[in-house]
Amino acid sequence: MAYRKRRTKRISRCNKAYFEDEIGARLTLAMIHRKDGSRREKLETRAYNCPNCGGYHLTSEPERTHAA
Ligand SMILES: [Zn+2]
Repeated sequence: MAYRKRRTKRISRCNKAYFEDEIGARLTLAMIHRKDGSRREKLETRAYNCPNCGGYHLTSEPERTHAA
């Protein structure tokens, strides 16, 4: 398998919170739910790997799968 080099520039192309790995994203997710679970209208529910910046973001949208 090809070795994926990490970009030195950590500029997210997305206007979202950026996480280097899924663990960090999930931890933040858990914290959000613990802190703001009842206050926020739209809660992020999952972390996903972003093809644009290679990092992870949180989203409140349900996962889109190819499964019918
Ligand atoms: Zn991104």
